[in-house]
Amino acid sequence: MALPPDLHVHTEWSYDGPHGSMDRSCERAIELGLPAIAFTDHADFVKVHQDQYCVDIAGYLDSIDRCRAKYPGLRILSGVELGEPHWFPKETADILAAGPLDVVLGSVHCIKVEGDIVDASQFPERQGLDFFAATRSYLAEVLAMVEGDHPFETLAHLDYPKRYWPEGGTPYREKDFEAELRAVLTAAARTGRVLEVNTTRGRVLCPDITVVRWWREVGGQAVQYASDAHDPDKIAAGFNLATQMVEAAGFKPARDPVSLWRR
Ligand SMILES: [Zn+2]
Ligand SMILES: [Zn+2]
Repeated sequence: MALPPDLHVHTEWSYDGPHGSMDRSCERAIELGLPAIAFTDHADFVKVHQDQYCVDIAGYLDSIDRCRAKYPGLRILSGVELGEPHWFPKETADILAAGPLDVVLGSVHCIKVEGDIVDASQFPERQGLDFFAATRSYLAEVLAMVEGDHPFETLAHLDYPKRYWPEGGTPYREKDFEAELRAVLTAAARTGRVLEVNTTRGRVLCPDITVVRWWREVGGQAVQYASDAHDPDKIAAGFNLATQMVEAAGFKPARDPVSLWRR
């Protein structure tokens, strides 16, 4: 089966993309026969990582234009990954006003812990952190982001803390967060959002089939795929497994390969 579009890719325009390259990502997408690729560089307004900055949207859009001219056979979608847009409505509106963006991802990376803003990637370093409580607090932030009237279409990596779950202790189980996950999914379905399946952790899909089934149950309409690659070599990695999982959860490919998968 042909691979679906990869709608979440980072390039050199992301603060955490030193190995990213929009140009080489286009070449890789053509090599893989992808029907489309979306470049969704970080529009973050927090500064929890050293050197973290928001995408230079004008420079980024120039780069998109250059790639569209250079690779006319590839469908290149523009986009951003908004970080915590519900905390930064004004900054978010400014980014979205800068130019036409085809794919807008809504992401929560950070929560507030004892007055600090902490990215889930930093959870393991945080002494004495209760991972279960932190994940509940994370999902409460996601719910606030989805319920607020914020201009993003796709709910990205809904269970982001799962990526950083400590090994050796009680494993991450979707069931332990069922009420919180269902609340997010229900709000996302009601507001017409698309659920992203993120493959950046390889066989550990974020989210996995349990959650995609709940998505269908609560009336979710569409799913899209994301490698979340920060390196051209990782584009569409894991998509074979992810598409099988999504199909088993009751979503089907569209006839038009650029379109989203629907129920
Ligand atoms: Zn992200
Ligand atoms: Zn990302």
